[in-house]
Amino acid sequence: MARYHIETYGCTSNRGESRQIERALRDGGHYPVETPEAADVAILNTCTVVEKTERNMLTRAGELDDETPGDLVITGCMALAQGDSFKDAGIDAEILHWDEVAAHIRNGECPTTTPDTEPVLDGVVGILPIARGCMSDCSYCITKHATGKIDSPSVEQNVRKARELVRAGAKELRITGQDTGVYGWDTGERKLHVLLERICTEIGGEFRVRVGMANPKGVHGIREELAQVFADQERLYNFLHIPVQSGSNEVLGDMRRQHTVEEYIDVVDTFDESLDEWTLSTDFIVGFPTETDTDYEQSLALLRETRPEKINITRFSKRPGTDAASMKGLGGQTKKDRSSGMTDLKMEIVGEAYESMVGTEREVLIVENGTGDSMVGYDRAYRKVALPGAEQMGISLGDSVTCTVTGHNTVYALASPV
Ligand code: SF4
Repeated sequence: MARYHIETYGCTSNRGESRQIERALRDGGHYPVETPEAADVAILNTCTVVEKTERNMLTRAGELDDETPGDLVITGCMALAQGDSFKDAGIDAEILHWDEVAAHIRNGECPTTTPDTEPVLDGVVGILPIARGCMSDCSYCITKHATGKIDSPSVEQNVRKARELVRAGAKELRITGQDTGVYGWDTGERKLHVLLERICTEIGGEFRVRVGMANPKGVHGIREELAQVFADQERLYNFLHIPVQSGSNEVLGDMRRQHTVEEYIDVVDTFDESLDEWTLSTDFIVGFPTETDTDYEQSLALLRETRPEKINITRFSKRPGTDAASMKGLGGQTKKDRSSGMTDLKMEIVGEAYESMVGTEREVLIVENGTGDSMVGYDRAYRKVALPGAEQMGISLGDSVTCTVTGHNTVYALASPV
């Protein structure tokens, strides 16, 4: 588990983002420390309101870089608007959007979104953990110690919980778990596709369903059935998060990830064949102790080949008590160089995907308040879309809005209602 230190500057919106980051980190088993010196990762949530603030941010970032023995993550407005200025000032940091911070720090481990499998309604988003635990034993993972082997409630129970969430006002159901792809394996049946079909066909009302992280191994065994359900059910977002972690089978073996690169590609190919438009999301860990230059190149090649539109990159760090912690690690500079090389490629791929959306019309379900008077939602392929001025236009959470995409940044598209 990582010890984090977070500092937040600027407006209440920035403070809200920091609270979200902290909540996600605590759900993942990480805990706060008072000083950067005691932290495995220091997080600076920046503001860029005036020039003096910018200078202060650069100074504080430099100090944190020196003070923390761990990694430095810089997020917030200045990171988005002038991310290069930190690099130019010689500060060694990961520059990330707020949304990316928790996943980056999670170190490739699966999320533990709630302490149990009880559903939670957050605004119009219903979070439904369908099972707890996984079928794997990844060598770098500490989450496993807390969650154990998969324990799946019945399909019946999960459909009932989903129905209750929709009745309570959920417009978007988020199906979560450490590994949703192995739902039901403990009962002798692979059932994710069965559960999704029943939720989509048996529950009345207006809602959409997003499937959370599923490891490639579990999905590979049901890829045809799953892709068919996605193709048949309008309510499902065409989105699949399958963390591959490396493009090298040797490294995947050392990580004890269970899947191969070829199985991951099989899943991607199956979804490509079944769906006209869908979003592939994946995670990579760079700098795993046994990762050679060739292995790293294979990860880049896999990224180029499969072109995921959402990519979480994590620089490997040791978790106490895991097998990977006893392996001889790579140098910090090697890990930084690999992380930054992969981030450049990610920016190119993600930028291209968002650019292709500009000028197109999208049906967007509004599920979050954005900054200022903007609101945020997702299109059918679960691409994030922000609508500036939405509140003033009378748009509310839960509305479905037809919009035209007018632009983008690296994490969401910008649109205006038709
Ligand atoms: S799948 Fe691997 S990373 Fe995820 S919880 Fe299980 S052991 Fe940990």
